[in-house]
Amino acid sequence: MSDRAVFLDRDGVINVRRPDHVKSWAEFRFAPGSLCALRRLATMGERVVVITNQAAVGRGLLTAAGLASIHALMTDVVAAAGGRIDRVYACPHRPDWGCGCRKPGIDLLLLAATELDIDLRRSVLVGDSATDVLAALAAGCQPVFVGEPDGDVLLRGVPSAPDLLSAVPLIEAVRRSAVPC
Ligand SMILES: [Mg+2]
Ligand SMILES: [Zn+2]
Repeated sequence: MSDRAVFLDRDGVINVRRPDHVKSWAEFRFAPGSLCALRRLATMGERVVVITNQAAVGRGLLTAAGLASIHALMTDVVAAAGGRIDRVYACPHRPDWGCGCRKPGIDLLLLAATELDIDLRRSVLVGDSATDVLAALAAGCQPVFVGEPDGDVLLRGVPSAPDLLSAVPLIEAVRRSAVPC
């Protein structure tokens, strides 16, 4: 049987979002409580997969290799703190290229489901943007919003929390209410 997973957006969820993009490891700052949250998710036995839009690559602000090295370091620090990141999937394209992998597109979620044998319908996607919520709904995942919810998020009844650490109990609640299959 396919496994379930918690998909995490990166900027604004794991690390502090920068308006000018995270272009190097020096600019990468873990969001308050996110390492603790990742450890708790690992304790819950959740597989954790990061799905992130990184148009900084398409804009020429960062190379694909530079992005991969940020993700390798991020994964190492998370593991050292007792958490886990099973895989990072990043869309490197600019919004105007119209690719299908930039959220709200779901190509990376479908790829993860195939490559890692994940059941999207038993999975949760945590993000801080409306595009994360839309991608989750389009892929059949349970969305969880972190940050200041806008009207659309509230309207759709998406569970919301100020940050990833406060979202962990919401994810636990989703898991408790899940119908066993
Ligand atoms: Mg984000
Ligand atoms: Zn893309």
